[in-house]
Amino acid sequence: MRVCVIGTGYVGLVTGTCLAHVGHEVVCVDNNEEKVKMMQSGQSPIFEPGLSEMMQKSAQEGRLSFTSDLGAGVDHGDVLFIAVGTPALPSGESDTRYVEAVAKGIGSHLDRGYKVIVNKSTVPIGSGDWVRMIVLDGIAERQQALVGAGNVSSGDRVASEIGVEFDVVSNPEFLREGSAVYDTFNPDRIVLGSNSSRALEVMTQLYEPIVKRVQAEDPSLSPVPVLTTDLSSAEMIKYAANAFLATKISFINEVANICDRVGADVVEVAKGMGLDSRIGHKFLQAGIGWGGSCFPKDVSALVHTADDYGYDASLLKSAISVNHHQRQIAIEKLQKELKILKGKTIGLLGLTFKPDTDDMRDAPSLILIEQLNRLGAKVKAYDPIVSQTGVGQGLSGVIVETDPERLADSCDALVLVTDWQQFQKLDFAKMALLMTHPVIIDGRNFLNRETMQQAGFRYVGVGRS
Ligand code: NAD
Repeated sequence: MRVCVIGTGYVGLVTGTCLAHVGHEVVCVDNNEEKVKMMQSGQSPIFEPGLSEMMQKSAQEGRLSFTSDLGAGVDHGDVLFIAVGTPALPSGESDTRYVEAVAKGIGSHLDRGYKVIVNKSTVPIGSGDWVRMIVLDGIAERQQALVGAGNVSSGDRVASEIGVEFDVVSNPEFLREGSAVYDTFNPDRIVLGSNSSRALEVMTQLYEPIVKRVQAEDPSLSPVPVLTTDLSSAEMIKYAANAFLATKISFINEVANICDRVGADVVEVAKGMGLDSRIGHKFLQAGIGWGGSCFPKDVSALVHTADDYGYDASLLKSAISVNHHQRQIAIEKLQKELKILKGKTIGLLGLTFKPDTDDMRDAPSLILIEQLNRLGAKVKAYDPIVSQTGVGQGLSGVIVETDPERLADSCDALVLVTDWQQFQKLDFAKMALLMTHPVIIDGRNFLNRETMQQAGFRYVGVGRS
């Protein structure tokens, strides 16, 4: 099937590459020329395990190409994915200006046949119909430019006059950065929202290889469940899923803060809770709070939508407020251990918002750096990806070290911010000797307390008094 993916970030590039890998002919479009040049030369602009190799293979085999020419992409694709960013505005509302620009652009290039336009971006409820309207506006504007301002027709009428038909589908994405390729081939479910059975039929055909698990870790499993529903419900599923996961983390963080006060260990508590099949173990790791490019903006956007429709989403607001407080926990613990932070040197282990990604958007490390700077501390950091790539170049207020020992040198305390697997294997005994005060705040409850104590550290976890 001929596919066009517009926006080649963590979602678009992975989606396009994986669809090409299972045999579709994919053109990826991005308006960032530099990125397009990089991808055309076989390099991935993002770090995602397994992605570069697959990109190169599909490109060499002629199923995957990259362009900044939206018209060429629209012309190529029978299915057009919109996968651009939808960051939060200061009000918490989703900023849909990139989606709008793409929808308008699609409209201005549609000139024949039937296309399915897919909202892959996480977009506010109602965006399916809104995208349809913008595409029609794009069609009408182009026609107006062609025939002159005096002869204005509605987008609907122009579309039918020039033989253009299209439907909009909501197909929210659930991949996790750091395992995005794996998640695309091994999804828990595929959600398709549309009022058009024709569009749903096209999407079912498109996803057939993934549903049949042709590239899955275990192809013998039963097919991937596909939930087909209406547009608004599909859009809501994405927000509700992320809001639930964020709330689950805020819940265990609140329990951790109570554990700290009463002398219980939240790791044991989470273990005991997670064994209950109604609860499960996932998303019950207490720590320094959630961040990244999705949870903060998606929970805020849902609260904003609720406000718009006259509902006070107080549970979600509390989840956000617990998270704000949790981001201060490492500072509070540092103050308890070191008293005055002014003039102290703090080393951060990890900068990215989670392991196996280079994404720094809304990472808890950024808040820590800002707060520690404000309190007069010097901040150093080591991160397996950021220290080796140019990702950290724009960071201010932090010295990015090239290895863990240089990080430890002369530090008054370390804070483990990201649970990179390789941090389990660091030579902590050597690092402790290099530090002024061998204190570690384990912001992810990731390290073994006894091992750290044997290495010479004073170990402080979250909710593990
Ligand atoms: P991103 O910021 O990494 O990538 C967006 C890309 O779109 C960029 O390469 C940008 O240059 C490009 N772009 C912007 N305007 C464009 C235009 N007019 N024409 C062509 N390209 C344009 O974003 P992302 O993290 O991939 O997220 C995309 C969407 O998917 C968001 O709505 C996000 O909420 C959602 N989502 C993200 C994740 C995730 O883990 N990152 C997971 C699920 C859903």
